[in-house]
Amino acid sequence: MSSPQPRPNVADIPPYVAGKPPTVRPGMVSYKLSSNENPYPPLPGVVEAVQDAVGQMNRYPDMGSAALYAKLAETFDVPADHLSVATGSVGLIYQLVQAFCDPGDEVVFAWRSFEAYPIAVTAAGATSVRAPVLPDGRHDLDAMAAAVTDRTRIVLVCTPNNPTGPAVTQAELDAFLAKVPEHVLVVVDEAYVEFVRMADPVDGIATYRRHANVVLTRTFSKAYGLAGFRVGYAVGPAPIAAALRAVSLPFGVSSVAQVAAIASLERREELLERVAALVAERTRVVEGLRERGWAVPEAQGNFVWFELGARTADFAVAADELGIVVRPFAGEGARVSIGEPEANDRLLDLATTFPH
Ligand code: PMP
Repeated sequence: MSSPQPRPNVADIPPYVAGKPPTVRPGMVSYKLSSNENPYPPLPGVVEAVQDAVGQMNRYPDMGSAALYAKLAETFDVPADHLSVATGSVGLIYQLVQAFCDPGDEVVFAWRSFEAYPIAVTAAGATSVRAPVLPDGRHDLDAMAAAVTDRTRIVLVCTPNNPTGPAVTQAELDAFLAKVPEHVLVVVDEAYVEFVRMADPVDGIATYRRHANVVLTRTFSKAYGLAGFRVGYAVGPAPIAAALRAVSLPFGVSSVAQVAAIASLERREELLERVAALVAERTRVVEGLRERGWAVPEAQGNFVWFELGARTADFAVAADELGIVVRPFAGEGARVSIGEPEANDRLLDLATTFPH
């Protein structure tokens, strides 16, 4: 008996391992530090705007997301036709691969990096080419440029890199772009861009203006604290933005997500103050870890990376016992999001007791 069979590459799609929820234990608060979320809830003004919009949820959203495009264009001083919004920046990554890759085409990215990359690439029938990150967790941009072949259609640069933490500098990105052929699309995944505090940071908008093959992907999930709404945006040259919109899921960005994103952009200053508080906590955590002898890589996102090899599972269990849920990558290491000060204190407690 024959049954419908998905394309063979569907069976090859690696699973996405989502961060576990907090463990429920009587008498103990447990913190979820496993998904790089913002520990702050949406601002009250954002919640109110969404509540007002809920009453019209019998209607489809504005498919063209016109008000959101206008607000993004104004905020970032870019033409609206250089933008494309989607269901999270992960939606944009899927759309980029779908729009630019035929089966068998190659997509180069660093590894370890964001786990959705090989999923999106395999789902489209394209081939992942992984360039290992350097021992300090930074992208090996030379190796990535050298990995480009005649079949390469996209290079994904994740900066700051999830899960290892470092970001590339503008000088590094410029040198890389000079080496990559102009018909190859360079996607700069800036999911954590608002958390970057370093010398010579990438100016993504200025960079895409200079290069017809550069597109940025960004999200409302991290700095803006809207992960549950699922909204992200790409900024790039008009033909790339148009291709993304062409392959987008009709009505993919819900009306409440559009409202939440606009209301958050209207309150951007206040949200960026929260980001500054999280960055201060990140500094406290990284310094505390280094004082305790941990050689953690530079952390430019809202998370810290522990390279633990075979001890990863033990670390995750020990964290759970202290009431923090981390994201283990089996046999490699654990990524821990920066959370509330109390949650971060528990991470420092763990770093004191767990051998480094
Ligand atoms: N890019 C990177 C590097 C990420 O870490 C994430 C979220 N973990 C995303 C993109 C996707 O975020 P979202 O789909 O919520 O916008």
